[in-house]
Amino acid sequence: MNTLLGAMFAASFLVIAYLNPSVRGTRWMALSYGFGIMEPVSHLAVVLGADVATMKIVAPCTFLTGLALMAPALSIFHRKRPMWRMCAAIILCGLFYYGFVPRGPTDSFWHELSFQSFCAASMFLCAATVRRDAPGTRMNKALTIVFIVAGLHFLVKPAVAATVGTDGIDENYAASLYAVFSQSSGGVLLVAAGLLILISVLQSVVQANHAQAHTDPLTGLPNRRALYEAFQSLSGKPDVPALSIAIVDIDRFKAINDQLGHDRGDEVLRSVADCLQRTCLSPAIPARLGGEEFVVLLPGCDGEKAMLVCECIRLSIFRLSIHDLAAISVSIGLTGVLKGEDLTDALRRADRALYDAKHSGRNRCVSVPMEEKDGDRMPPALRKTLRPV
Ligand code: GH3
Ligand code: MG
Ligand code: MG
Repeated sequence: MNTLLGAMFAASFLVIAYLNPSVRGTRWMALSYGFGIMEPVSHLAVVLGADVATMKIVAPCTFLTGLALMAPALSIFHRKRPMWRMCAAIILCGLFYYGFVPRGPTDSFWHELSFQSFCAASMFLCAATVRRDAPGTRMNKALTIVFIVAGLHFLVKPAVAATVGTDGIDENYAASLYAVFSQSSGGVLLVAAGLLILISVLQSVVQANHAQAHTDPLTGLPNRRALYEAFQSLSGKPDVPALSIAIVDIDRFKAINDQLGHDRGDEVLRSVADCLQRTCLSPAIPARLGGEEFVVLLPGCDGEKAMLVCECIRLSIFRLSIHDLAAISVSIGLTGVLKGEDLTDALRRADRALYDAKHSGRNRCVSVPMEEKDGDRMPPALRKTLRPV
């Protein structure tokens, strides 16, 4: 049963590693469970006639390696530096002990305690790794507790061994009462740890997919979908007293593409996006609508204040120096958002302001009042315009 459960965990981590290469550490987790299942496999091998002396060394060595490797796997998963030295020290000391120190009677408390101490140390290292590297969520607290209990369980096993007897690691061991206790308690704890780790890994897969679906791959800015969700959560919120929306469109961008090539065009898009990110301080939210058009949501901003933020954005982009390129200018169309209005209507109005900015000479910010409807366009002269100085 333990072999099958361990194999299932190893296979799950491998599948996740294959399907989601951006989630790190899962190959190490698979390796950890892969080594771990060699222990119950070697007991089965003894029953099936394998050499007892060899299996007496293979079983603890592979099991300990599997336990200790989970610590670096967890660090890599959390993108932290693994405690490689500690991990290597536990594995090497354990391998030396299991390989070269003659094993005393397995039901002798002190012999068994020293034998199990390496596995306990591995579990405590895993607990310390989760405490150090993982965020303090309930899930990670539970995982720390499971590792500590697993570590303590290895220290309790010698007492059980001394009390119920073990029959040694030979043909009789697999059927002994101690083997039942050892395999079932170890199995339950390692399945509990495995489930918690698997849930954390799956959570991070979901988060990575969510971030990917909401991010523009070229610029790293939130994309149209993210903009829609941010707008939904802001418009109509009673604690957001005002909300404005601005479309920022690079002037004559097609000419940059045509003269310098698409790659340089992409470089300009990335520079403008970086500039937007630097200039739009929280709670302003910049996003890429598509092509050379960006949108900035301005919660808590309306009228003059929103216009000043837009002017600040326009000037910051104008002052960018992108290699040998001449100054990049943008036109900005701005409008306030009515309570409960949907994004399409607000964008349509901002687009009308942008149209006016383009047709009155580009490189400027124009705002239209939020009351203006499609049918009753205000004469451009009545709109607020900030022209380049
Ligand atoms: P205007 O001042 O009126 O806004 O003129 P424009 O040239 O900026 O606007 P137009 O809509 O004519 O051209 C936009 C160009 O943006 C056309 C398209 O090839 C280019 N474009 C769209 N998406 C990308 C992209 O991801 N990368 C690059 N390099 N170019 C893009
Ligand atoms: Mg343009
Ligand atoms: Mg455009």
